[in-house]
Amino acid sequence: MHELIVGIDLGTTNSELAIIQDGAIRVIPIHGRPIMPSCVGLDGTGKLVVGETARNQLIAAPEHTILSIKRQMGEDVKVSLGDKQFSPEEISSFILRELKQEGERELGRPIKKAVITVPAFFNERQRRATQVAGELAGLDVVRIINEPTAAALAYGAGVKEGETMLVYDLGGGTFDVSVVVVENGIVEVKASHGDVRLGGDDFDDLLVAHAIAAFKKQHDAELPRDTKTLRRLKVVMERAKRTLSDEPFVAIREEYIDGPRHLEFELLRDDYERLILPLLERTLDCCHRSLSDAQLTPAQISKVMLVGGATRTPLVQSLLRNRMRLDPRFEIDPDLIVAMGAAAQGAVIAGDKHYSVLVDITPHTWNTTAISYRRGYDELVCVPIIRRNTPLPASKSEMVFTMFDAQLETKVDVYQGESDIPAENTLIGDFLVTGLSAAPANNPIVIHFDLDLNGMLKVTAREKITGFAKTVTLDTRAHHAVDLDEARRNIASLVGDSTGPADRTDAADASAEDATADTQELLNTAKDLRKRGEALTQKNPTADDANEIRDLIHHSAAAIKDGDWTTLAEKNDALSDLIFYLED
Ligand code: AMP
Repeated sequence: MHELIVGIDLGTTNSELAIIQDGAIRVIPIHGRPIMPSCVGLDGTGKLVVGETARNQLIAAPEHTILSIKRQMGEDVKVSLGDKQFSPEEISSFILRELKQEGERELGRPIKKAVITVPAFFNERQRRATQVAGELAGLDVVRIINEPTAAALAYGAGVKEGETMLVYDLGGGTFDVSVVVVENGIVEVKASHGDVRLGGDDFDDLLVAHAIAAFKKQHDAELPRDTKTLRRLKVVMERAKRTLSDEPFVAIREEYIDGPRHLEFELLRDDYERLILPLLERTLDCCHRSLSDAQLTPAQISKVMLVGGATRTPLVQSLLRNRMRLDPRFEIDPDLIVAMGAAAQGAVIAGDKHYSVLVDITPHTWNTTAISYRRGYDELVCVPIIRRNTPLPASKSEMVFTMFDAQLETKVDVYQGESDIPAENTLIGDFLVTGLSAAPANNPIVIHFDLDLNGMLKVTAREKITGFAKTVTLDTRAHHAVDLDEARRNIASLVGDSTGPADRTDAADASAEDATADTQELLNTAKDLRKRGEALTQKNPTADDANEIRDLIHHSAAAIKDGDWTTLAEKNDALSDLIFYLED
């Protein structure tokens, strides 16, 4: 049996967990349902609640409930939950933790590794933030993959060789479109475009504004714009929006919305569609751009896959049909397809040959900077090194030159984006290379970018004439300073445990629960020896023997954490001998 690597779709509105079991994809029910709202809250007693329970209190306790945190992933912000403050990574970790724990309950076995999906258009920071959230939830995030790619993978054996597909993914908060090709059993993303700020939530916002105008027309009065009323309106209008996917009109009636008065009006699907049309036009632009990047026409697309709950909107389907002459299909539930693909990717990583191998691309261009004189004056411009839509992993170099004689140092900037003007792109990081030789100006420096399958970047600057080099792995956590230990403490203040290495012995105890029967005895012995050893060290904390005990306890905890049972057995023996001798 292969190692278990689960697939997780960490969505703006909903999240899902899937695995491959006996060669088939299985979506794991969370709280009895395949879909869990990505909602986090505190109940009346201050206890953390996640999923449906949190969503149910959205109106009654808006200040104790958080929805759509994905939209803030990668931002250096804190959100309030009751009287505490949390980062988006921490809030997302609560969602992942719930999926992990509920999944473990359902499967009866520990979940340690996961593939998590992100929108193709997530930048480095947002990907990192997702990875951090996984770590905080006690998951080893073995791969971050793009949502549309996962969707294509979910079709697995269902896709024919040479088939070219368009994955149109409209979720609650983001939109992505990708052109995907299957060649030699490999699923390859040829091009990808999107908008990280466009989704079903925006339709809700338009409907809320429409409801406020309807109330004004009805009562000649303004509705209060407090959080509670707005949340209530959002819930009502989101429900109305879903109804309009199946019905030509919806009657909205929300009693005592501002105290004495009711909100009451009828909304036609036609009017709703007029409201959202400009947003959907933007998605069509992205489709055209992706097709043109992949040098394809719509006629060359054999399948259009719809992903994300908002693709149930009939206008989405009719625009794809009428404007682009594409025929979208719904063979796999658009809410589950991404998690299913992530599970398929997890199985491939675990060594399962049954599923297609994935080739992903980078949706952004990665640049360094240089001074250019092309407009008749010196200006800093972006120099692309790895271009958008390059398959991953990618490894490419460009040469830049020093400006002055005996220039002993140079700064290397890394920008993500399509513009040649640095200010229009996102600064990912910079570093200083010192110790260059005292060469004349125009000393060539080779800048090498290595982009891995998770979209993480390693940058090397090498002086060509001497080979002298400096390598930096760009870690956007440094930018937006997520202190993992502090985050763990913050989380523990709410949920009362910590999964981090900061708590080595606790982590060891936690791992003990995960062990199989074969190792359980070994772990019990280690736990017992640790307790007895700690008691002895407290009696005489400075003696050499006490130091040796601490050392052995430390090594056995590390062995438990690494699952290294041979070393654990050795440490148990050594500790047992020492304790036996000292207790005597
Ligand atoms: P996702 O992020 O994929 O879970 O998609 C969630 C979005 O899909 C939310 O904005 C939902 O309001 C929207 N949605 C779910 N069901 C429907 C439906 N039947 N019609 C229109 N939008 C829907």
